[in-house]
Amino acid sequence: MPDQAQDILSRVFGYPSFRGAQQRIIEHVAAGGDALVLMPTGGGKSLCYQIPALLRPGTGIVVSPLIALMQDQVDALKQLGVRAAFLNSSLMPAEQQRVEQALLDGSLDLLYVAPERLLTERFLALLERVTPALFAIDEAHCVSQWGHDFRPEYIQLDRLHQRWPEIPRIALTATADAPTRNEIVTRLELGQAEQFVSSFDRPNIRYRIVEKTQPRRQLLEFLRSEHANDAGIVYCLSRRKVDDTAEFLRAQGFDAIAYHAGHPPEERRARQARFIQGDAVVVVATIAFGMGIDKPDVRFVAHLDLPKSVEAYYQETGRAGRDGLPADGWLCYGLGDVVTLKQIIDKGEAEERFKRVEQHKLDALVGLCETTECRRRTLLNYFGEQLPEPCGNCDTCLTPVDTWDGSVAAQKALSCIYRTGQKFGATHLADVLLGKANARIQRFGHDQVSTYGIGKELNANQWKSVYRQLVAAGFAAVDVEGYGGLRLTEQARPVLRGEQPVRLRRDPEHKARGERRTAQ
Ligand code: ADP
Ligand code: ZN
Repeated sequence: MPDQAQDILSRVFGYPSFRGAQQRIIEHVAAGGDALVLMPTGGGKSLCYQIPALLRPGTGIVVSPLIALMQDQVDALKQLGVRAAFLNSSLMPAEQQRVEQALLDGSLDLLYVAPERLLTERFLALLERVTPALFAIDEAHCVSQWGHDFRPEYIQLDRLHQRWPEIPRIALTATADAPTRNEIVTRLELGQAEQFVSSFDRPNIRYRIVEKTQPRRQLLEFLRSEHANDAGIVYCLSRRKVDDTAEFLRAQGFDAIAYHAGHPPEERRARQARFIQGDAVVVVATIAFGMGIDKPDVRFVAHLDLPKSVEAYYQETGRAGRDGLPADGWLCYGLGDVVTLKQIIDKGEAEERFKRVEQHKLDALVGLCETTECRRRTLLNYFGEQLPEPCGNCDTCLTPVDTWDGSVAAQKALSCIYRTGQKFGATHLADVLLGKANARIQRFGHDQVSTYGIGKELNANQWKSVYRQLVAAGFAAVDVEGYGGLRLTEQARPVLRGEQPVRLRRDPEHKARGERRTAQ
């Protein structure tokens, strides 16, 4: 069978060799095994189900939440001579009937189906009459209630397994954090599935996070000096800012187009096509842009506003440099962003516990912004991956950061986590360190712990920044499954014992207070 897979890879897809874990995954699924595939965007997930579908008898059923992407994938497959089709709400009834008939005739290798369509009794009955080669669940993180892409229908996809227990299933995602992974396994009943976890490193992307002073000007300078004739994406939080920024860039001579959900679908499609076909088109967009965009030569992704989470940052920057050539992930970050995002979270309709999770995700991202460590290391660490050496291709590696010796502060902060039982958040811990006398502290008796009032040299915001940085550096972790308190990690030990010094990034706030800085 390895030869057959190889044969299809070169004969049908025209590629000489497999990438990363592709071959192992394909062999596993083609032999009937279940798989959970975690691979970064652009890593080559599609082949992992497309080739097994071609190797096994019957039709590979692919669940995908992205209508636009389905169409593209099916078109591409057809061009390669693969018998592929899709079913979603964009089809006319006659067209739909034709596809269903092809399925019944056994003349389809792959069928892409929107989840809500798949789960209709009508479609399930149709499936009973044919042989599914496999079930591929793309964008499997949509099953996670904690994620931004949550799709309620995804939760019911466990019905496939119950009805067709012998058909192999392959769930794929580029969202790799542990809570999401666990949720996918539980909800899709993939406990027995083999997990294939790829490295999430994108070594050709140079990560840079700069302090926001005059964002437009900083962006312009970045584009002019480094990307004058390149295609790229500029992300902004609001539609208004998207429009304004696109207009600004056009006035400065860039071929810039705005993209957000305020445009009608046809208009969005046209703008997306222009970006994909153009050489040096800059799309200024909200996060509505990008899911499923496969343009290999995006040379930069710039953020004028803070993304919502480390995952979002990783996903969004990951749209750069898919061709493997050098590309930039550039983010302009200010404390104001944090406040704005906090407000969005607070004002949201979500339940309290969801808000808490969102808040922690934001904190982790702020930690990444503040880290003095290699950005890539911090980023990958968030996904549970260790990078043995600093990367040499991010701003903190390339340019030393303005820092202070935070070893003692770190010890105080960490031991305060320990003394209070490893279940409280940064705000409360800061209150304890500052020796506040509020009701919560009294209720828990935290005015009796040894760390009470030992941290008056910093203010509450500075302590919170210390905690965010400790989380970012992996000395403490947020307990997302509980109430979101902080706990110590194994790595905290040498810090607590005074064996490992900790350098902390100087908080922008220090500067605002007029403290002297050496580096500018
Ligand atoms: P993902 O779904 O993980 O984001 P895709 O499956 O869309 O990634 O693949 C990303 C790109 O890499 C596509 O252009 C695809 O054709 C290409 N690709 C995938 N596997 C290989 C391979 N083995 N050799 C060469 N190119 C590949
Ligand atoms: Zn680095």
